[in-house]
Amino acid sequence: MPHSDTLAVHAGEPGLDRRDASITPDITVGSASGYPDLAALDAAMAEHRGYGRWGTENHRQLEAAVASLEANGLDGRLDAVAVGSGMAAIAVALMSEMNAGDHLVAAHDCYGTTITFLRDDLSRFGITSSIVDFQDLDTVRAALTDRTRILLCEICTNPLIRVPDLEVLAEIAHQAGALLVVDNTVPTPALSQPMRWGADVVIYSATKNLSGHADVIGGVVVGRPSWVDGARAFARTFGPTLGPFDAWLTLRGIRTLAVRMARHTGNALQLARFLERHPAVSRVNYPALESSPFGARANRLLPGGAGALLSFELAGGKPALEAMLPRLRLVRLMPSLGSVVTTLSHPASTSHRGLDPTERARAGIGDGLVRCSVGLEHSDDLLEDFQRALTSS
Ligand code: PLP
Repeated sequence: MPHSDTLAVHAGEPGLDRRDASITPDITVGSASGYPDLAALDAAMAEHRGYGRWGTENHRQLEAAVASLEANGLDGRLDAVAVGSGMAAIAVALMSEMNAGDHLVAAHDCYGTTITFLRDDLSRFGITSSIVDFQDLDTVRAALTDRTRILLCEICTNPLIRVPDLEVLAEIAHQAGALLVVDNTVPTPALSQPMRWGADVVIYSATKNLSGHADVIGGVVVGRPSWVDGARAFARTFGPTLGPFDAWLTLRGIRTLAVRMARHTGNALQLARFLERHPAVSRVNYPALESSPFGARANRLLPGGAGALLSFELAGGKPALEAMLPRLRLVRLMPSLGSVVTTLSHPASTSHRGLDPTERARAGIGDGLVRCSVGLEHSDDLLEDFQRALTSS
């Protein structure tokens, strides 16, 4: 069995028997294929080949790569379906599994648009949700109904970087006859394989570290082949197709995933330790810190490191952030995460702007909370940038 670093470089590549073929996959841009006769057309239609909404060779290569990274070292094969965004991945996973009258329990610290989708959109189709704190397992158990089909959470939540107890959540889900669906966007398959801990379905926003360069909007859903058949059939009809070039770019990003995530993680830990010691910073959230309440769990679930995302609270609140931002030379403000560049975001103005200040305080999101997606710069330069910007504040 190859190491996952090797799989990241090779998984999904076209067969080795293609003589004189480019080592880089070609991009299929045509929206439909042509056939010489009815028999050939019929054979293609029977296999859902030959029409772009169903995906092309570029999608199949990306799907094979993500599925094999997710399955590495586990029993059994996995399959994946690539779609046009992380939100499309969530919609496909949930809507292909659930019917009107079904119920879902979701972690309250899921990505804001995921919560909006559950509350405002799925509810219109008769699918109800309980949105609860997944750190409180009794509350999760109490939320179950006899129609609960899915438990949904993220690992390394945004922006407080909390790590849920996936093993116990999987047990709770399975005892209730439900699936545990885990959004693994932040750690990526380089650092986390939720199925190792009992998850049934794994979701990615490929927009973030999976593609890694802030130049793609995409998503992937991974599961057992028989389950993915259903999700793929739904996606074929629903139509949230990823563009072939975006599939190609995502696969190209995956080729460097292992080395990128190792560097992101090393830089993030150094920055987290630096910030923790800085007098202008009152709190740092990063699961690999010795001080983190999620330390032991992160060591078990994320042995390769806790990824690129951390957050910190400035003692001087929003005014201190406003003073700091113009002094940064490398670090940019960006309402996304997971690029080669180190970026900051202000959750109170972006992901949690829909909450009032009391609700935000209850969720642990103060006005001085800053989320940082740590990039691939040299750590000395990164620390120097923060040192300069914070010292003068
Ligand atoms: N899941 C997580 C954890 C996210 O952070 C995001 C976006 O920020 C999404 C899903 C949605 O992804 P996309 O923007 O690609 O639709």
